[in-house]
Amino acid sequence: LTEACLTAIDGADALNAFVHKTPEIARQQAAAADARRGADAPDLNGIPLGIKDLFCTKGVPSQAASRILDGFRPEYESTVTRQLFEAGAVMLGKLNMDEFAMGSSNETSVYGNAVNPWRREGDDTALTPGGSSGGSAAAVAAGLCLGATGTDTGGSIRQPAAFTGITGIKPTYGRVSRWGIIAFASSLDQAGPMARDVRDAAILLRAMAGHDPLDSTSADLPVPDFEAMLTGDIRGKTIGIPREYRMDGMPDEIESLWAEGRRMMEDAGARIVDISLPHTKYALPAYYVVAPAEASSNLARYDGVRYGRRAKLAQGDGIAEMYEKTRAEGFGDEVQRRVMIGTYVLSAGFYDAYYNRARKVRALIKRDFEEAFANGVDAILTPATPSAAFGLGEMADADPVQMYLNDVFTVTVNLAGLPGISVPAGLDRQGLPLGLQLIGRPWEEGDLLNTAYALE
Ligand code: GLN
Repeated sequence: LTEACLTAIDGADALNAFVHKTPEIARQQAAAADARRGADAPDLNGIPLGIKDLFCTKGVPSQAASRILDGFRPEYESTVTRQLFEAGAVMLGKLNMDEFAMGSSNETSVYGNAVNPWRREGDDTALTPGGSSGGSAAAVAAGLCLGATGTDTGGSIRQPAAFTGITGIKPTYGRVSRWGIIAFASSLDQAGPMARDVRDAAILLRAMAGHDPLDSTSADLPVPDFEAMLTGDIRGKTIGIPREYRMDGMPDEIESLWAEGRRMMEDAGARIVDISLPHTKYALPAYYVVAPAEASSNLARYDGVRYGRRAKLAQGDGIAEMYEKTRAEGFGDEVQRRVMIGTYVLSAGFYDAYYNRARKVRALIKRDFEEAFANGVDAILTPATPSAAFGLGEMADADPVQMYLNDVFTVTVNLAGLPGISVPAGLDRQGLPLGLQLIGRPWEEGDLLNTAYALE
């Protein structure tokens, strides 16, 4: 399997999914897996995976697709990758992404964007694999690896999964340790698996999850055998359809995909109810205050001293010039935009008007979901994205807010800390994959995966 994947990867450079290949590590890990073959081999023994560049991997470049981390090789292993390797997984290399996971198209990467393996029928335009986990999505969709790690702060697992016809789950906040994952917005970031189908996602999630004393927000709860919960039986479950997700100007293909999902759930014996999540319209603005605020604080550590790259200094430059020059040339445009927005909304004069307001809105959004669940809803069904994959470069001159609109169905889930999954649910008229999203109760990823399994 490892050799087949390494060959496939070498033949797929045009996808620009892998930004750093690690064949020596892969072969060593595969040989170790071979030696462990047998009945008591661990769950992922010999399974080749790709790792998003946001995960610190010991001795292996981990750059978050940013220039500022040029040359950074961590001296430690993230908890997620350590657990995957302990479960027998093989690392094929590091995967492309938006810089510091900020973006929805993979176009903010210092490596240039990854490319979606899908094309519109009769049209050769190269399409985005989505973002920020675009390299992970492209690699899994193209069969370059059996699964990949992703991270999701505001949709970065679910949107690329939808754009490439694969399955991706963002677990409940706290289910998976964030230790050793380069931080974007710490109260929203969660890692999760991106895989070919629900079963693979269930197996991978079990290996990634669990309490970690190194992450104070990781939950001390047992991790169930998610795969064993995949019965496909959802009879008697209540599925909520939130009316606020029916947006003006939503393409009718997305509408009919959603209706089709509703029908499939009904046919499988679930009860469908219309619900209201009244604060949905404030989610995107709240997210784009909270996430940049936390990012501006997290990214303060890139100062030209502690990690990666330092700018060339001129005679007479002091420490202030070193910070300025390093950060000006090390961070790309989108990252600089986020740092500026974040610094602004946290500044003494605007803190209450923006950051505190956004936190209050966040609490209301969370309460909307809690009320729906308290009223007996087991899962909520929505489209994963407002459109299919768009063309690379198509948004280059657009207002950045156009790009942010891509996250309209996904950010609510991060603000509320809930688990959400995107499953492939058919093709649009041009033959591109579309995804449906299911949102579950906290800590009930097993149920959520099983509901998604019924949609598959
Ligand atoms: N597209 C969103 C953003 O740019 C989400 C990113 C993410 O989930 N990492 O912030």
